[in-house]
Amino acid sequence: MHLMVTEKHNTAKRIASILAPKKPKQVRVSGVDTYQWDGTVVMGLSGHIVSVDFPKEYNNWQKVDSRELVNAEIITTATQKKIVSALRKLGKEADHVSIATDYDREGELIGVEALRIIEKVNKGVTADRIQYSTITKTEIEAAFSNPVAVDFNLAAAGESRQVIDLIWGAALTRYISTTAGRLGNQFLSVGRVQTPTLALLVDREKERMAHVPKPYCEIFATLIDDIEFQAKHKAGRIWDKDEGRKIFDKLGDTAIVTKLKKDEKIDRPPTPFNTTEFIRAASSIGFTASNAMRIAENLYMEGFISYPRTDNTVYPSSIDMRELIQIIGKGPFKQYAESLLKLPGLEPTRGKKETTDHPPIMPASYVEKSKLKDDEWRVYELVVRRFFATFAGPAKWAVIQAGFDISGEEFKARGATLLDAGWRWYYPYNKPEDMILPDLQVEQVLVVKEKEFVEKETKPPSRYGQGRLIKVMEDLGLGTKSTRHEIISKLYARAYVHGNPLQPTKIAIGVIESLEKYADTITKPDMTAALEDDMDLIAEGSRAEKEVEDESRKMLDAVFDELANNKEQITESLRSSMREDKIIGTCEKCASKLIIRRSKRGGRFIGCTGYPDCDFSLPLPKSGQIVVTEKLCEQHEMNHIKIITKGKRPWDLGCPYCNYLEWQKSLKDDEKKSK
Ligand SMILES: [Zn+2]
Ligand SMILES: [Zn+2]
Repeated sequence: MHLMVTEKHNTAKRIASILAPKKPKQVRVSGVDTYQWDGTVVMGLSGHIVSVDFPKEYNNWQKVDSRELVNAEIITTATQKKIVSALRKLGKEADHVSIATDYDREGELIGVEALRIIEKVNKGVTADRIQYSTITKTEIEAAFSNPVAVDFNLAAAGESRQVIDLIWGAALTRYISTTAGRLGNQFLSVGRVQTPTLALLVDREKERMAHVPKPYCEIFATLIDDIEFQAKHKAGRIWDKDEGRKIFDKLGDTAIVTKLKKDEKIDRPPTPFNTTEFIRAASSIGFTASNAMRIAENLYMEGFISYPRTDNTVYPSSIDMRELIQIIGKGPFKQYAESLLKLPGLEPTRGKKETTDHPPIMPASYVEKSKLKDDEWRVYELVVRRFFATFAGPAKWAVIQAGFDISGEEFKARGATLLDAGWRWYYPYNKPEDMILPDLQVEQVLVVKEKEFVEKETKPPSRYGQGRLIKVMEDLGLGTKSTRHEIISKLYARAYVHGNPLQPTKIAIGVIESLEKYADTITKPDMTAALEDDMDLIAEGSRAEKEVEDESRKMLDAVFDELANNKEQITESLRSSMREDKIIGTCEKCASKLIIRRSKRGGRFIGCTGYPDCDFSLPLPKSGQIVVTEKLCEQHEMNHIKIITKGKRPWDLGCPYCNYLEWQKSLKDDEKKSK
């Protein structure tokens, strides 16, 4: 029997329907659906079906010193028991196994994990590897007729990442949590990629807090020819207010055109989508990073787009682009495809990075709008439009820069008109607007309709949005195309950040401050970037997995030396930030601080630190992590709070006092109704 193993159930079903001459038989094995015909069985995994872990005796956080985890034994345990059992059953009967998991490092490891399970029950089995980037009939048939060897080095690279992440994450999470006294589901997680990412956000937040706004002024004049437009004083930001006033007071009512410079600006078409650019573009039209990736993965599994985890920004020359544009160019895309196909040559743009594993993210087949959910369609459309835009010509703008003299002061204005939309017609996202200036002549005299003296102040650097954060992570070598969006989701789930742009919570600031001071290796991107390089070396076969792991253990041991030397300071710093994190506002009865407290029965509430003299209190929801945000209720001077529950959208509870009053009111209303 020939056993084919794919990464997910959906891909197994689709691949079986492509390869089988007739509709394949659906057979349940150990509770797992498989697809069978003429001596062939296709089954899907559920991503990783095993995981690395420490033996049971290390489970007790209070009894086992976190440092012991650094050199503890590592075991593999089955996380998907049904699938493992089905693999064993089918593996026994198989003569040959084809690993058809996703074609990347993680996919190779997932395949090797499955192969190891099969080899344990069937020594003589042979295996090969199937590589593909899109789940379309042509590509799947071609891939299955050209199998290659399983790449054990590539899998080893993935495995070493798992091991190193486990050791660093578990040892440091346990250390920080026990030191802070936060156990159970309140633990404070630390991770090899997660922590340097969080440090980026915290460092930015601290820059914002340290920012001292500097006042300045700007001077504008509204001029009229046949249309109105605005000119700005040439100095831009004027730091000295008196000087600004002097200029403003002397301005008369006429402006003379002193300079005119006409130019044509070329706006080049964008490069093909890699994962980072795709997430950024999706995030600019309202998708979170993890949603964008989840939807893209579904579209890939259905065969509508190519594999969405890719660093490649150059289309492979093997694809017949003319044919693909024809295939996609139906329905709403018809006019765009027709216009592309009229171009003399199809020369796509190229990005900086070229790899050979996968193409950039691009459409693989056409799907009707009615067959997709609304958000799936929006992502599909984004991918199609980007694909088309990479073949289109540049956008052309007519740009006019004009200079004016108003009572001896120099003003300037800039106009831009789109002459030729070029690629922007295909890809109409984030389109800059026209700025129209009238047709001016040098020495022409204009009327100054209005003068404005505007006082402003400098703003702190802005917080990171998800799209921008993903890009910065990529630049710093934090995480991979497959993991970056997951890391961001984790920060939200752990209540380290809230909102978008991402805002770190007080506890996040406390954890990062302690680590930066006493164990800064884990907060810097250098270590994790060096590790990504090592993993590439493992994949090439030029470094041994064990060597890299041992080196990483030594580094972590050194971190623990540092932690041990500063234990008291770390404890104090963590505990004080946790006290800070509990403060909700000021008591209206006695002006003491209001804090989150635990009741004897384990519940929680907002209580007054003036207790027992003051008995002011407010109820809080029973479950979920409480995040105290910066937003203040103006009426009650209390911080708004959010409740984060795993697997649910965060609940914006708002001001706890307002929330309580509304609740009381709704109770009374209900009472009235029932009477
Ligand atoms: Zn009070
Ligand atoms: Zn309120």
